Amino acid sequence: MTAPRVGVLALQGDVREHTRVLRGLGADVVPIRRPEELALVEGVVLPGGESSVIDKLSRAFGMREPLISAIDAGMPVLGTCAGLILLADRLVDGIEGQQTFGGLDVTVRRNAFGGQVESFETELDVPSIGEPTVRATFIRAPVVEDVGPAAEAIATLSDGRVVGARQGAVIGLSFHPELDAETRFHEMFLASIRDA
Ligand code: GLN
Repeated sequence: MTAPRVGVLALQGDVREHTRVLRGLGADVVPIRRPEELALVEGVVLPGGESSVIDKLSRAFGMREPLISAIDAGMPVLGTCAGLILLADRLVDGIEGQQTFGGLDVTVRRNAFGGQVESFETELDVPSIGEPTVRATFIRAPVVEDVGPAAEAIATLSDGRVVGARQGAVIGLSFHPELDAETRFHEMFLASIRDA
């Protein structure tokens, strides 16, 4: 079987961390900044970082429309933290003029854990992943406030708040598996490329 060829959107954010995890899983990984580069991959990762900056740069680099078309056409996508924000069909507390690509039928609140504790680690309930439980790092993380009919919640905090959602081949997570020794979400993403 040939290695899946995947792109990590490399405009801003933790591109290296995702690249390392995916290479470790045997994928052929390339950074993507241009539409021509996007056209050569079978799936794309939207990294953690600052969603408003990635939004602006995606427009400056002519990547916004190609990404929206690719997601619409069913290209598998994994977004973590800022990447989840970029996948949300509806965004609360974005900066003035901030846009998302969409693809996940969810409402996401940016910096939802702001004010109180900005970063924390915790155990998550992720039934589709099972044992051992997922240990997750949240850094100025967003939360999924509402899951629409086209999407499903896949990860929840112990208080029931949703921090991961999936719609077909589109997966969005509030936290950063790429920063922990947690490869199972990246495996889920690579499996959706194989199934596509
Ligand atoms: N707060 C950031 C944003 O709005 C996300 C933080 C992260 O990706 N770690 O994009």
